[in-house]
Amino acid sequence: MKNPGRTILPRLTMLAALATSGPAAAEILVRNQAEYFEAAKRARPGDTIVLANGVWNDFEIVLDAKGTAERPITLTAQEKGGVIVTGRSNLRLAGKHLVVRGLVFRHGSSPTREVIAFRRQKDNLAHHSRVTEVVIDRFNHPKRYETDFWVVMYGKHNRFDHNHLEGKTNAGVTLAVRLNSKSSTENHHRIDHNYFGPRPILGSNGGETLRIGTSRYSLEDSNTLVENNYFDRCNGELEIISNKSGGNVFRGNVFFESRGTLTLRHGDGNRVEKNVFWGNGADHTGGIRVINRRQTVRDNYLSRLTGHRFGAALVVMNGVPNSPLNRYQRVEDSLIENNTVIDGHRIELAAGSDEERTAVPRATKFRNNLIVNSAERDSIAVHDDIDGIAFESNLLDGVSTAPAETGFRSASIELERAENGLLYPRDRSLDGVGVSRNFPVLDREQTGVSWYPKAGRGSELDRRKTRVVQPGDHSLAATVERSDPGDVLWLEPGEHRVSTIVEIDRPITIAGRPNASKPRILFERGTLFELAAGGQLKLVGIEILGGEAPDASGNAVIRASGSSVSGNYRLIVNDVSVANLDTNHSFDFFRASPGTFAERVEIAGSEFRNITGHVLALDRETEDLGRYNGESIAISDSSFRDIAKTIASIYRGGTDESTFGPRFSFRRSKVSRVGLGRRNESEASIRIWGVQKAEIHANEFADSRPIRVVHTAGEPRTVLGDNLFVNTPEPTIVERAAASNGRPQAVRP
Ligand code: CA
Repeated sequence: MKNPGRTILPRLTMLAALATSGPAAAEILVRNQAEYFEAAKRARPGDTIVLANGVWNDFEIVLDAKGTAERPITLTAQEKGGVIVTGRSNLRLAGKHLVVRGLVFRHGSSPTREVIAFRRQKDNLAHHSRVTEVVIDRFNHPKRYETDFWVVMYGKHNRFDHNHLEGKTNAGVTLAVRLNSKSSTENHHRIDHNYFGPRPILGSNGGETLRIGTSRYSLEDSNTLVENNYFDRCNGELEIISNKSGGNVFRGNVFFESRGTLTLRHGDGNRVEKNVFWGNGADHTGGIRVINRRQTVRDNYLSRLTGHRFGAALVVMNGVPNSPLNRYQRVEDSLIENNTVIDGHRIELAAGSDEERTAVPRATKFRNNLIVNSAERDSIAVHDDIDGIAFESNLLDGVSTAPAETGFRSASIELERAENGLLYPRDRSLDGVGVSRNFPVLDREQTGVSWYPKAGRGSELDRRKTRVVQPGDHSLAATVERSDPGDVLWLEPGEHRVSTIVEIDRPITIAGRPNASKPRILFERGTLFELAAGGQLKLVGIEILGGEAPDASGNAVIRASGSSVSGNYRLIVNDVSVANLDTNHSFDFFRASPGTFAERVEIAGSEFRNITGHVLALDRETEDLGRYNGESIAISDSSFRDIAKTIASIYRGGTDESTFGPRFSFRRSKVSRVGLGRRNESEASIRIWGVQKAEIHANEFADSRPIRVVHTAGEPRTVLGDNLFVNTPEPTIVERAAASNGRPQAVRP
């Protein structure tokens, strides 16, 4: 539709004349939102609208215009990286032949469900349009479980390339392709050369980095090409990529230390080829999960992936007979060939077999795959009848049991690293097995943009300068407030009194001096430290006493607050003495609020006594939606005496199978008179509900309540060994995971 205002503006009439007669196109520099919207309204094919360098706050950008293939309409930044879009902002594109380039979205969130949408509204989509060299960095809704999407592609023939997306912490897919109308199916989008930077663990379904389609439209073809993208520690959930449509190609992508798998969840006729998965032994790293018909998984390289079950290196699922769209179609007419799996913890065949998932794979070929373990291991698991998989010419080394009598040969294979960085058999007569030679491996620097730094490595604790804190009334709180991320605060011996709640929203270490007496912290509010998003708190060699806390129930030394924004935090407690948390009842050492998430909580070499609440309470996600408060909780070499409630109370309810945690370990610790308080409803010294993996080893319990474990969804495992229970009942483990139809019913405590 023509813009009715256009013809009455002389300047534009002139421009229009120029546009038809020659290449002259306008480059319009705009300095504020009013100027932008005016320019966007008048935009003609070939025009470039340039946002002036600076911060653009609360800017809901709409570019609704029609360029041509030769003369697109471009929106760009005065300098790449010079335009920062912040606050409540987003971008909507509609029309055709549009290009957006070089913007940075940071320090804000979208007021709508999308940050970048290839549509203006439901019926006004973008086609033949491109978003390139755009950065979205931690542009998160503050509420963790409020769902939004960073990029949603609608329409047809759109391209999303060379963008940098990093640090999504609230629920919702990072990049989604929608097929929800005729004008968005068979869309032939291209998604290439993007840098998908670290996405932290969400602790719930809805943490996918890329999703194409939804179960409802999964019988439609999308024909999207996903090529040469770098997935760097994309750890949101079980599915790094959730493919839910047909006809897509995933080629040449690199998955670096990313938890989860590329999952062919719904839709037929997809191809996965020449992708490289570097697990490097990181937890829960996986490869490719196959479901549905006519899937091709070819020439993929999978190295040192530790995942198992649905998160393994290669997974061929069982289906559901006459499956509804949102469950599992049978694997059929599919091909898995010439893949190399090196030191993969698991390959799972007929995975998920249970009373509901009984449709075994059919008419599927598994051939010319190379599977090598450096130490002999039983790495191929068979969960049901696999007669429907034809095995042929697969080569094994270090695999103790082949899954079938024919189609596998075992040999001792010497590997050498080729120029592309991948391992191949030295014996060239084996070239037809495993991935092809001259296989191009994408480099991280070929993706995203060169002018915005990619994510670094390692912990940010203990990295910066040290600050000395003298004993006294206010110096600790004041020093934390002016600290930089990574600083170490050395507390001199003596009494440190804190009269405010100290917020920890960055990595901070608070430590006593080695070989000196432990500094003592006393605090006067109901909370000493409050952890916020991005906070990492490490306490080393100090003493914390609760005697000056208010005479009120429900105090906590450390709290992860529900009012903080959506990011994850860490807590590390080492060689710390905690006592006299008993000014009133239910005084916890650590308490997590709903909507907060600990990536790790670690206690080592510490001592806890006289506490009327819990030591660690991570049990407030009680809606049974598969959410939980912490991924990895580890306690070792510590002692616990006279604790009225539990040492750890961890809860994850519901039947969802999208996550890996929580994990819990408890080792080499001494427990005495724990759990006996009359307000301890769990009647346990340690209570873990819905934990996926628990190890409780080499501890001594005396005069305490028992350990109580409830297994719910997934394949939970609890390993108990070398524990001594004196005047303490044996642990109880209740199984709720294997209920009827594979749909266990979790029961609220
Ligand atoms: Ca999912």
